[in-house]
Amino acid sequence: MIAMKVMKFGGTSVGSIESLLNLRNIVNAQTKPVIVVVSAMGGFTNQLLAMCEQAQQRDISCLDVLETARKRHHDAIDGVVIDSMRDEVHATIDRFIDESLKTYYLALATNPHMPVDEIGRLCDAIVAHGEILSSAIVAGMFEDSVPHLSLNYMRTVPDGTGRVLDWEETERLVKSDFASMTDGVHVAQGFISRDKESGDVTNLGRGGSDFTAAILAALLEADSLEIWTDVDGFMTADPRTHPEATVIPTMTYEQAQQMCDAGAKVIYPPTIAPVAARHIPVWVKNTFNPSAPGTVIIDN
Ligand code: ASP
Ligand code: MG
Repeated sequence: MIAMKVMKFGGTSVGSIESLLNLRNIVNAQTKPVIVVVSAMGGFTNQLLAMCEQAQQRDISCLDVLETARKRHHDAIDGVVIDSMRDEVHATIDRFIDESLKTYYLALATNPHMPVDEIGRLCDAIVAHGEILSSAIVAGMFEDSVPHLSLNYMRTVPDGTGRVLDWEETERLVKSDFASMTDGVHVAQGFISRDKESGDVTNLGRGGSDFTAAILAALLEADSLEIWTDVDGFMTADPRTHPEATVIPTMTYEQAQQMCDAGAKVIYPPTIAPVAARHIPVWVKNTFNPSAPGTVIIDN
């Protein structure tokens, strides 16, 4: 396997022009290839879901919120996307908003007798657009970007009332999608997936972009996984209530798993196991303070 790392940037890291410019500097400083996994722009996933609720109440003022979000994405494009790609990325954003999102919201708002499972499918398709739009912007920031679409290889199966990753099918598809890892910045969406049988758009659960990055790191045998977020790392205590809290420089996978399970919001809990099983080090780093050493999670 080729030497490479997976770098995941969360919602705040892709949420403003300032943070996207930090992301660009951080990624440009890497030896290529790298895989960059992105979340939706901060807050947009919540907005997409709130608009689903509104539309079901036949309140189409949700379309105003959509226009605010459109402007936010266009402003980001103007601030960060390279000249040669800017028009194309603007058009991509408009296409997804006008042809997909608006159509879906109007379908919800105008079909009072829509069966609940159809509503669920539509809302899953809607919420996937957070990552689809942010990844179009991030891919537009690099001359050497290679766009991927996580809907093409992340597969889930039903599990009780929820769903879980289908590791076997996902492994087969990921290995084929990333078979020729050319140099460059490979950009993929966190969170989003498809149902293995129906092909319906699904997701890995709220906060699931970390898990996407861990899955790619594990299946492609990455040298490391970096979770770029808005804190300096795992802390000894909650800094809001314990101002004396400090960053923990090194942790074991076990310790990190315990802290995540206990509610530390730094990493989505299912993220640890796949990388722990393959002894892939996980770095937690701050996009807004990239020179801070962060936390590294390793065997011991
Ligand atoms: N955008 C999704 C969420 O807000 C996934 C993620 O950010 O990890 O939950
Ligand atoms: Mg997160």
